[in-house]
Amino acid sequence: MSMLDQNTGRRIIAATGPANDAHQPLQALTFDAFRAANVARCLKWHPQGIESWSPSDWLTAVTGELGELASLLKMRNRERDGLPGNKFSPTQKQIADELADVLTYLDLLAATLGVDLGRAAAQKFNEVSERVGFPDRIEVDERLHTAPLPSQEPVSTR
Ligand SMILES: [Mg+2]
Repeated sequence: MSMLDQNTGRRIIAATGPANDAHQPLQALTFDAFRAANVARCLKWHPQGIESWSPSDWLTAVTGELGELASLLKMRNRERDGLPGNKFSPTQKQIADELADVLTYLDLLAATLGVDLGRAAAQKFNEVSERVGFPDRIEVDERLHTAPLPSQEPVSTR
């Protein structure tokens, strides 16, 4: 799968499974590629910029999608327990879609806050591993990240 980033003109290539086109390089979706496509598309809804919604607005969208996901899992719980009330049986596709919606809005929230989500996730993962004494680490190549490291100062929001 590939798409054109309308801001940079770069082609974004993302493959999450076996290549179905032998001419396309197989490459896992990266946080950076997702961010580029996500922001480019979001600007069609918000042509004045993603900052036209506050972090609180984006967080509301994240929690809305979490609610949709929770509703599907509630239905699965009912099925597990043999309880009535479901209007349909949630499919794996529906659950995957809601997880993806959560990620999409979470990424836009992070973008609005100036957070490199991939780097932040790896750093936090490593901090927790170190704190609890586990050897698991995610290697981050800082040469690929041009944004400054997150500040220890509080972030102002409106
Ligand atoms: Mg949804």
